[in-house]
Amino acid sequence: MQTFEYRQSTSVDQAVQAGARSKRAQQYADVRFIAGGTTLVDLMKLDVERPNQVVDINGLPLAQIKTSADGGLVIGALARNSAVAHHPVVQRDYAVLSLALLSGASPQLRNMATTAGNLLQRTRCVYFRDTAHACNKREPGSGCSAIGGHNRMLAILGTSKDCIASNPSDQNVALTALEATIQVQGVKGNQSIPIQDFYLKPGSTPNSENVLEPGDLIVSVTLPPPAPDTRSHYLKLRDRAAYEFALASAAIVIKVNGGRIERARVALGGVGTVPWRSREAEQVLEGHTADVALFRRAAEAALKDAQPASENGFKVELAKRCIVQALTVSTQSA
Ligand code: SF4
Repeated sequence: MQTFEYRQSTSVDQAVQAGARSKRAQQYADVRFIAGGTTLVDLMKLDVERPNQVVDINGLPLAQIKTSADGGLVIGALARNSAVAHHPVVQRDYAVLSLALLSGASPQLRNMATTAGNLLQRTRCVYFRDTAHACNKREPGSGCSAIGGHNRMLAILGTSKDCIASNPSDQNVALTALEATIQVQGVKGNQSIPIQDFYLKPGSTPNSENVLEPGDLIVSVTLPPPAPDTRSHYLKLRDRAAYEFALASAAIVIKVNGGRIERARVALGGVGTVPWRSREAEQVLEGHTADVALFRRAAEAALKDAQPASENGFKVELAKRCIVQALTVSTQSA
């Protein structure tokens, strides 16, 4: 592990200024915020992340979970995954988020991992985590060892010739279906970024994963008010029942009235380079009678552009079945 300077921030402004130093001074070319540390510390030990300075933000007042004036929910950046998952309002009004969080990692990790850290979770591509192999995401221009290598776990949607890494998070899939907004404070002021605009597909620059700039600090995630009579569900398919990343997952937020789907939001995990919203599936679903034949057509639409690699062709059908089953459960007795 590379040596680094450790600092604690006592205010959001101070953290933003510390983070922004990465733009101004070469000796702080790589500043990282740390909270739960469940991703960053691992990657520092592996020499994948090599910050010059680590800024501890655990002392900032950003752990609140509270109802907003419009009836939505504000989840602080430092709210632990377990606190969010077990929060009564989340369980009642945003069940898809609770289910997604509880399907991820282990209880110990969920007690440490934060909302913002989960948003910034890095890929589990084995080549990204092993500095002995070429990886465009870790070292731009070095090549991609996964294309033609071990890619069973990797993405089939949103890939490029330079990177096929999947986004590993469950939380982010649920937040995408819920149309969350990410609140950011930075040197240029405050920003509200819809989650749909937050992540970047790899293209030719897989090292750029989101729109944040140096010094930008996620302060909270906001959820819109729950629409009346809306149901939600998260289904995760994986190699073992716990402590495993998704091969395919589906987050559904849906309103059915008299058997007809009025509104549907569909997001996929385990198959996309970013948390994958399927507007194609939503368009197939909305305005039509909820039944298995319709769900299958929606699943076909969601995966029509899939581009599997050498080992993950099975994910195409798996993801389709995942969508059908998640829709079936979320519309039962609706
Ligand atoms: Fe690196 Fe992406 Fe290729 Fe994995 S898929 S080796 S993360 S460039």
